[in-house]
Amino acid sequence: MCGIVGYVGPRDCADVLVSALTKLEYRGYDSAGIAVFENGRIEVAKTKGRLADLTEKMEKEGKPQGHAGIGHTRWATHGEPSDINSHPHSGRRVTIVHNGIIENYKQLKQFLIDNDRDEFLSDTDTEVVAQLLDFYYDGDPIRCIRKTLHELRGSFALGIVFADRPETVYAVRCESPLIVGQGRDEVFIASDVPAIIKYTKEYYLLEQGEIAILKNGSVDFCTLHGRKLKKELLFADWDEDSAEKGGYPHYMLKEIHEQPTAVKTTITPRIEDGLPDLSECGIIFGTLRNLKNIFIVACGTAMHAGMVGKYVIEKLARVPVTVDIASEFRYRDPLLTHDDLIIIISQSGETADSKAVLSLAKSRGAKTLAIVNVKGSSIAREADMVIYTHAGPEIAVASTKAEKTIDRVVDMCQYVSTKLITADSLLYIGRGLDYALSMEGSLKLKEISYIHSESYAAGELKHGTISLITEGMPVIAVATQNTLLEKTVSNIKEVKARGAMTIVICDEEADIDADAADYMIRIPKINETLMPMVATVPMQLLAYYTSVNKGNDVDKPRNLAKSVTVE
Ligand code: GLU
Repeated sequence: MCGIVGYVGPRDCADVLVSALTKLEYRGYDSAGIAVFENGRIEVAKTKGRLADLTEKMEKEGKPQGHAGIGHTRWATHGEPSDINSHPHSGRRVTIVHNGIIENYKQLKQFLIDNDRDEFLSDTDTEVVAQLLDFYYDGDPIRCIRKTLHELRGSFALGIVFADRPETVYAVRCESPLIVGQGRDEVFIASDVPAIIKYTKEYYLLEQGEIAILKNGSVDFCTLHGRKLKKELLFADWDEDSAEKGGYPHYMLKEIHEQPTAVKTTITPRIEDGLPDLSECGIIFGTLRNLKNIFIVACGTAMHAGMVGKYVIEKLARVPVTVDIASEFRYRDPLLTHDDLIIIISQSGETADSKAVLSLAKSRGAKTLAIVNVKGSSIAREADMVIYTHAGPEIAVASTKAEKTIDRVVDMCQYVSTKLITADSLLYIGRGLDYALSMEGSLKLKEISYIHSESYAAGELKHGTISLITEGMPVIAVATQNTLLEKTVSNIKEVKARGAMTIVICDEEADIDADAADYMIRIPKINETLMPMVATVPMQLLAYYTSVNKGNDVDKPRNLAKSVTVE
């Protein structure tokens, strides 16, 4: 969640920090702030609200002038969103920005109070870290960071400035991601690459237990014990434009339109003589032959992609597949053996619960395979095998690329969405792969249009849920699986007979009586197993246009964050 940035260089630091934070807005936030060295003193500006509110505040009250500092967008976990709880937070000589959660902050706060440090202004766990750093600070920043980190439990990334170390920014991380950008005579820290891509494409990945020291336009790395480190400089192979909207009104619409290319870039290089070849991902098919069980573990949209995976793997490979939600799986003491494969799907590769599942699976000796979009992310680095989706940056909170067709269904989806905006609640139904799809359609609608919906296996309806159907209630039926078409059509007729307004998503050849559907969204017919790739598009478009028609902020739905790096 949230975003951390930092800068040391010749430009106006406050401007760079705010512009970099703008590129991290997609991660979700409720307040923002910066701290800049101005004539050797640390000046802080922060506020509840959006970055525009921070800019307005600085215009009125004065913008810190300087060339080194740190910035933050906060997604509140400890303490309500408020000016006081916004980052940066300070001790007497130390000011920090923090991403993540400190699990043992209460004990640490008590420890500080017991040691006559009771000057707490906010409700945050972050302020406890600032005070603890201050407590341990004896003029040696590395020693104080080491001692503090030794005490902290949780996941975090920190940007730190010390009042008596002007023009210098320190950074350290544990679990939460952090990168260091290297430009010409200037250096940056950021939670993610889009924040700095406008300034430089060269960056380092900060690893656990490493400290970055940014000074005089360059960066040094050392261990917590002060031993110097040499790190590999990486290159981001996408440009600023690909992280911008490219002429579309919203990132979500842009990303929906990018899906055909994303699918192509993901699949084409992995086909050799008409057969899949995943050797560059560390996958040798022979070694998978003896697998007893496969577990696909993920959260949200990625979990629904996993459901599709289950149907396909079981059908083609005849290996039992269990799909589970990461936050449940990690705590249910799962039965895992050396003959099992755990597949973790995570767009960002930083999802906290999925990361925990990966560690658990490794500790039990199971094989691990990550399917992620972000190169070099924690999950990608830690798994035995990794398949990158090569989907490019995904900015809209509502995930679209974890899953073509587009232009021809746009008008119909736009029209049908006008029928959905007044609904209080609706149902999605489907069978088999279409059931997995209906779960995803329902999630997308909830996420961005804020309309309640449920997804149901179509055959299960009459065992209870059909009692919810009232006159005019929208029911979106996904019917792309020919082998199940007749069954699904019967279920559609059942709800239609009880007054539902039925919207049917099916292929262009599907034989469905006109009177079963109030609206029919026809998509191209391809191999049945691959239909989810196509059918997901109208689902996303329906959610998108319903949200637009309701006047919602499509790319930044309320209460949601893009990269869920906390539990
Ligand atoms: N736990 C911290 C807070 O609530 C940081 C949250 C974040 O990652 O933005 O202030």
